[in-house]
Amino acid sequence: MSVRVRFAPSPTGPLHIGGLRTALYNYILAKKYKGTFILRIEDTDKKREVKNSENYILNALSWIGITPDEGPFSGGSYGPYRQSERNDIYKKYANKLIKSNSAYYAFDTESDLKKEREKLKKRGEAFKYSSSNRLLFKNSLTLKKENVLKIKEGVIRLMVPEREKIQVNDEIRGKISVSSEELEDKVLIKADGSPTYHFANVIDDYLMNITHVIRGEEWLPSLPIHKLLYDSFGWDVPKFLHLPLILNKAGQGKLSKRDGEKEGFPIFPLRWGNSLGYKETGFLPDGLVNYLVLLGWSPGSDKEILKIKETIDIFNEDKIHKGGARFDFEKAVWLNQKHIQNTEPKELLNQFPEFFKNIASDEKLKVSIISLIKERASLLTDFEKESVFFKSEPRSYDLNSVSKLNKKNAFIVLKHLHDSLTGKNFTLRSWKSEMIDWGKKERIGTKEILQAIRIALVGSLNGPDLVSVSLLIGEVSFLKRLKSFMEFLK
Ligand code: GLU
Repeated sequence: MSVRVRFAPSPTGPLHIGGLRTALYNYILAKKYKGTFILRIEDTDKKREVKNSENYILNALSWIGITPDEGPFSGGSYGPYRQSERNDIYKKYANKLIKSNSAYYAFDTESDLKKEREKLKKRGEAFKYSSSNRLLFKNSLTLKKENVLKIKEGVIRLMVPEREKIQVNDEIRGKISVSSEELEDKVLIKADGSPTYHFANVIDDYLMNITHVIRGEEWLPSLPIHKLLYDSFGWDVPKFLHLPLILNKAGQGKLSKRDGEKEGFPIFPLRWGNSLGYKETGFLPDGLVNYLVLLGWSPGSDKEILKIKETIDIFNEDKIHKGGARFDFEKAVWLNQKHIQNTEPKELLNQFPEFFKNIASDEKLKVSIISLIKERASLLTDFEKESVFFKSEPRSYDLNSVSKLNKKNAFIVLKHLHDSLTGKNFTLRSWKSEMIDWGKKERIGTKEILQAIRIALVGSLNGPDLVSVSLLIGEVSFLKRLKSFMEFLK
């Protein structure tokens, strides 16, 4: 049987980094087995729906290079792929469960249930509508048939069997068994006729022929309910893989939007309102994807810098971790840097033109600047930051850098360089070695010479190779910068 996986987000807001990782693992498994990746929109809870999230999800997937094989936008023969368009299907299957006595109607009002909840709360107990108390409530098991027919509005609940051991299997964690006493008679169909997550999810996974359910660990507690549903229909279960939680850096609790805000890193792949995404922060899709695949899986070798194609080749689902994965933004930046370094300057420019709009006006110059700065850039936004001095002469000098200079010597250095260039004794290519030789005679160290020139050219002690900088800015600007800094030192 060919592998079919699904990514099933709810359009209740932007996709966060954890959701993107789930999508990615699904995609990798589908590609590894030459299977099918399905996008299913789980929009059963209309009240929680947030405008534009569906588009956001699609754009985020597309940014990291995932195009669903089937889904609301790609079509496919198992549609519709939006749950809100499948209500008739769910009703039909819910009726089957009623007929086979695996589900029942319940008519308790919100306030009935609230009363019950509060009563138990006083005793320090949590309320659960279940096999132990279902006969105390208003439902088709307790009401006479005529009364049931008279009451129109009701929900359909799963009839969890009494005192049974329910065995589930997670491919990552192995067998887990739960006593049915612990489970609630979950609502399957709500009073408005729409399905709940649990019900729609199972029906769709079955009808869409899903072979592997890959999702976050937070869904593991739902697995026994899902298993009961499969059993009630007499269906085989797919394989389940619950991915480890993503924890904050300290490893204390789930990574939250607040952690990102506090520590200044993005939590969404793309911009959402005022929150910048990984894209706008300067991540290459390859860099983020590389980080995400390692967040809960390791290839079992030292190889860490991976492109998606290589990951697909070596991915082994047996190596997915059980324990929570700590989120480490610095590691993500480090991997991104490696991907920048592994990409040709021309390719960087073609793929991410928006980051190079302002660094120069013509393409050739852009490519030269990119080559020069590439080794130092961790994020695509670094290129503009690190190249401001190409466009204009330093408007101010970093005083901390200036304080490291012997001002008198610096002045002599700059003057000698200026005079030698204007006197045509040095060229833009030769000045560095000439100055070093001169320094030996004058007893001025190479470091001292180059520091003075660097501050004159770029304003501080940081920056790329000086000869390359001088060639890019040209002689006129070079001389002007030497002059300005000499003025400053006077
Ligand atoms: N709609 C659920 C979510 O948003 C999907 C859970 C699942 O994959 O079963 O996380």
